[in-house]
Amino acid sequence: MELLNHIGSSWQPSSDGATDEVTNPATAEVLATAPASTPADVDAAVGAAAAAFPEWADKTPRERSEVLFEVADVIEKNLDELRRLEVDNVGKPVSIVDFEFDLTVDNWRFFAGAARHIEGKAAGEYWPGATSYVRRDPLGVVAAITPWNYPLNMATWKLGPALAAGNTVVLKPSEVTPLTAVRLAQLLEGVLPTGVLNVVCGTGPVVGEAMSAHPDIAMISITGSVGAGRAVARTASDSLKRVHLELGGKAPVVVFDDADVGAVAAKLREAGFYNSGQDCTAPCRVIATSGVHDDLIDALDDQISQITVGDPNDPDIEMGPLVSAVQLDRVAGYVDRAVAEGARLVTGGKRVDGAGFYYEPSLIAGADQKSEIIQREVFGPVLTVQDTTDEADALARANDVDYGLAASVWTSDIGRAMRMTKGLRFGTVWVNDHITIVSEMPHGGFKNSGYGKDMSAYALEHFTEVKHVMINHGT
Ligand code: NAD
Repeated sequence: MELLNHIGSSWQPSSDGATDEVTNPATAEVLATAPASTPADVDAAVGAAAAAFPEWADKTPRERSEVLFEVADVIEKNLDELRRLEVDNVGKPVSIVDFEFDLTVDNWRFFAGAARHIEGKAAGEYWPGATSYVRRDPLGVVAAITPWNYPLNMATWKLGPALAAGNTVVLKPSEVTPLTAVRLAQLLEGVLPTGVLNVVCGTGPVVGEAMSAHPDIAMISITGSVGAGRAVARTASDSLKRVHLELGGKAPVVVFDDADVGAVAAKLREAGFYNSGQDCTAPCRVIATSGVHDDLIDALDDQISQITVGDPNDPDIEMGPLVSAVQLDRVAGYVDRAVAEGARLVTGGKRVDGAGFYYEPSLIAGADQKSEIIQREVFGPVLTVQDTTDEADALARANDVDYGLAASVWTSDIGRAMRMTKGLRFGTVWVNDHITIVSEMPHGGFKNSGYGKDMSAYALEHFTEVKHVMINHGT
């Protein structure tokens, strides 16, 4: 399969003809080649998006809404093909992709509806003889950079609000997983007007950097690692474009003595190892009070040992490979160093033999609060459990990381739940649940997990500019 960039109405290789290989992580075989694009390709795509902007922005909310509903329908009609591409490119088990794609379609429908509810402040007289009102205008050309863990879904989180608000887009998928973004652009030819969605494949340091620097891009939205977010924000500062950052996470799971241990362990089996743990909100850092700590380790050991790992095309498989050899080495390195530093490996901790990039679901106990395995995002099938004495210590440990994306609290005490949800410095906090998301609610980080929200009406706000209009009518 040879992928091409989508720029305006044409399909093109990179300006210098260079390509990157795209790999199937379950087999380590090359699946496709994609353009290793250049700044010249970015420039061409920005030109196409800028040319398309006035007409798209001038459409009525109803017209834009109808187009976005059609996008959702097209995705729904092509789910079988998109599912196959995502399974082959990311190594996601077929058993989990439907849940993710159901959210993708729902996200598009949510933003299709929301396109008709973009509101400014109602008109009023705040100065004698003058009437003020607030408009929310589109920004212009928006750049979107997406990661490899949920390629189609992360593209949707950017495209939905950007297009609903009347912007046009240049999308750069991860160089590791460009298949569904390119296929989406093909499927949407004839649905979206020419130039409204452009896709440029390539690496972060070349294509992402050129997007961050481009003077005709009004806003850049990236989902990725903290390092990539910092690079984007740094480069974007020269042109003072708006920056929207959805970065890494290190979600604590605070479990109190009064929690239902069986329910916690079952949920962590599902949510902690979903997508091989390659999820920014994955519950990965369990902090349990002493009365429940040992029982929870036993329950987790039991659940995790039952996880089926293997060929993502097998419907009975719960966990597939990691996305790449690089990611496999990264995860194995974190676990090896944690054990070398004195943490106890309860289960897992090894690569799985074979051609693909498989790693065992792993559980680690007794790691020090300041150790790397507690402080850094592993982004793999690895759960740690730490002991804590009381509510104050649990909260302090939970907050004691640079990240602030998601957290959960497990307790049957409503007062404790209220205190903990107030004190946790994370953009999403669940009580007696973890990882569940809905289109209507915002998703985004505190601290080094970035700023700006995906999904919900809050995302739409980021993709618009607030304008005050004052009419002096002299009466
Ligand atoms: P990554 O940072 O390596 O890459 C993400 C994207 O950024 C890719 O498209 C990449 O090409 C691009 N990029 C890399 N360096 C860049 C640069 N200097 N300038 C511009 N673009 C650059 O991340 P990844 O490994 O693909 O994804 C995993 C990371 O994404 C994890 O840290 C995870 O937590 C995070 N993530 C966050 C969310 C969220 O909603 N907050 C969701 C999913 C993933």
